[in-house]
Amino acid sequence: MEGLFHEDLAALSDLDEQSLLESLSQRFKQDRIYTYIGDILVAINPFKYLPLYVKEVSERYKYHEKSKLPPHIFAVADRAYQSMLGRLATGPRNQCIVISGESGAGKTESTKLLLRQIMELCRANSQLEQQILQVNPLLEAFGNAQTVMNDNSSRFGKYIQLRFHNSSVKGAKINEYLLEKSRVVHQDEGERNFHIFYCMLAGISPDDKDMYGLLDPTQYRYLNGRYGSEDIEQEKVDMMTILAGILSLGNIMFEPTETDALRVTGKSMGWLKATAGQFGVQEEELLRSLTCTLSVTRGEAIRRLHNQQQAEDARDSIAKVAYGRVFGWIVRKVNELLAPNVDIDVELNEIGILDIFGFENFAVNRFEQLCINLANEQLQYFFNHHIFLMEQNEYKEEGIEWETISFKDNKPILDLILTKPIGILSLLDEQSAFPQASDRDFVDKLNSKFKSSPHYEVVRSSSPLFTVVHYAGKVQYNGVGFLEMNRDTIPASIRDLFINSVTPLLSVLFAATISRTGTLMPRKAKLMQKADDNFNSTRKQSVGAQFKHSLAVLMEKMFVASPHFVRCIKPNGNKLPDQVDNKRVMDQLRYNGLLETIRIRRDGFSWRPSFKEFAQRYNILLIKPDLPLTKESCMSILNTTEIHGWKCGSSRLFFKYWHQEELARLLERLGKAA
Ligand code: ADP
Ligand code: MG
Repeated sequence: MEGLFHEDLAALSDLDEQSLLESLSQRFKQDRIYTYIGDILVAINPFKYLPLYVKEVSERYKYHEKSKLPPHIFAVADRAYQSMLGRLATGPRNQCIVISGESGAGKTESTKLLLRQIMELCRANSQLEQQILQVNPLLEAFGNAQTVMNDNSSRFGKYIQLRFHNSSVKGAKINEYLLEKSRVVHQDEGERNFHIFYCMLAGISPDDKDMYGLLDPTQYRYLNGRYGSEDIEQEKVDMMTILAGILSLGNIMFEPTETDALRVTGKSMGWLKATAGQFGVQEEELLRSLTCTLSVTRGEAIRRLHNQQQAEDARDSIAKVAYGRVFGWIVRKVNELLAPNVDIDVELNEIGILDIFGFENFAVNRFEQLCINLANEQLQYFFNHHIFLMEQNEYKEEGIEWETISFKDNKPILDLILTKPIGILSLLDEQSAFPQASDRDFVDKLNSKFKSSPHYEVVRSSSPLFTVVHYAGKVQYNGVGFLEMNRDTIPASIRDLFINSVTPLLSVLFAATISRTGTLMPRKAKLMQKADDNFNSTRKQSVGAQFKHSLAVLMEKMFVASPHFVRCIKPNGNKLPDQVDNKRVMDQLRYNGLLETIRIRRDGFSWRPSFKEFAQRYNILLIKPDLPLTKESCMSILNTTEIHGWKCGSSRLFFKYWHQEELARLLERLGKAA
């Protein structure tokens, strides 16, 4: 243990919030941004370059002993990789690394460092490795943007699964969650649109600009008057053209006429023409889908004219849906490219890395925030489950003496949001199914069902507000737009418009329901087969139900993997180096549950192999390979070592997290001696 301040806070003897904060901030001031709490890594964003990730450091952390080197994100990579290979602990081979923290805390940087180091570890100097590493810049171009909180803020959540056969990487898969599509059409003060638009405009040659019909960046309204890299095959051309179409679309303005109909302002007639060209659709049809809604009632088509606001909303929703589909398509392409090329019976193990938006509480919180906060409740539950529940339940079952550590169980909050048939999301779905229901009706419903829940507060207001008491604090939500956002339907006229586009990619992105055998061009038909499965399965579900489903799938994966936790902390709100805002950091420590974590990590037994697992693995220490796999054998093995502080339960052994390393060292010594 070097210096004044501990590398592993689970080793601190007198512990309170203040001393935790003090230790972390002292270390931070010496540029020691990483600290362990047992096997959990706390990482404080330095907001400056530190020589922590150079080649030499990366080498040093390969196959290292944890206690010999200072805490590091590379140590987490090493641990996950070795565990995946079964070299460290007994336990599930699949691994998941959960990275949490608020916006700008360093989650995405940590993810990239982990990916890089894991690729180093498997020494896969292959094309595949290069491709995996190239995925990030691509996804960041389309999914990240400058925000007030972070200059390169991820506007989507992701779970990256690296798939291995033995020690070599065979493929990868990306799951994306909740892309913030609204950013395409609106950005707050000091924020920007997705990076790709600026890259496209900055990196493009004049000839290409003509080809896509692009103008100077200052000309586009969706770019907020701001501006800031990429060869060519047909799909890419299509994609760029669609992006250009989105920008042109944003410049179409409407004005009323003497009759009820709207018209496109004289100035934006050119944009209408450009958009239609770029989207590969008829100008009149585009105009019609912007200025009126066609609905079919009892077999009769009824045309309803839009007012100016409705036309603008239609324009913006086309832009959002088109961008959302392009993003989904990119992720699917990446997944096709990176899919493991192995026989079905080859067993693959996985390391998953979760980089998902942290808890959000803004001045106005909308449906998106509810989803994001729900994800964070799930993650906190997962964390609690591993750190507290599972561990303590097992002590009880195994008859280990133990003084229960209390923690904030957030299961009731999860139930409030997720329970069927009366959780917030189910009630939202129920209301979304009524075309006449309003956001007010939805919130009234919530109020009447949950007014006595300790995690819900009724808000007396003329606006449809309600409060959820999350594990990390109270958040007031504004129900305006909840129903609309949850439905996320594209009017049939808009879908038809795009399905008939002569731009093959665009047509494919929208052709979810039409038959595969229609009158499609061959290339389109091929593209479509691939796109089909993905859309059909989820298209009809509400956004809330889809998100709930994808979270459940994620959790299922995570609950059967060995978890590793990285807790990212943002030291101050100004993105500045060497500055610690004590209050901010304390808040983050509290809602991360880190203090309770220190206690359980210090007092608890995080490694709990069965007698069989243990005897199988360590019988070699007795040099008796045919040892029966019993409790007695385990005792004989342990008696040959000088390991202290473990306990014996009724079916398994209980070890401190550092015991594993001590045993690994013994095995290694034996290996060297042999
Ligand atoms: P999050 O994904 O949590 O929102 P990011 O990972 O994008 O946050 O980090 C925000 C910014 O902080 C990065 O763009 C980078 O400038 C800085 N940063 C994060 N981690 C580090 C690090 N380990 N070293 C140096 N700078 C960092
Ligand atoms: Mg991020």
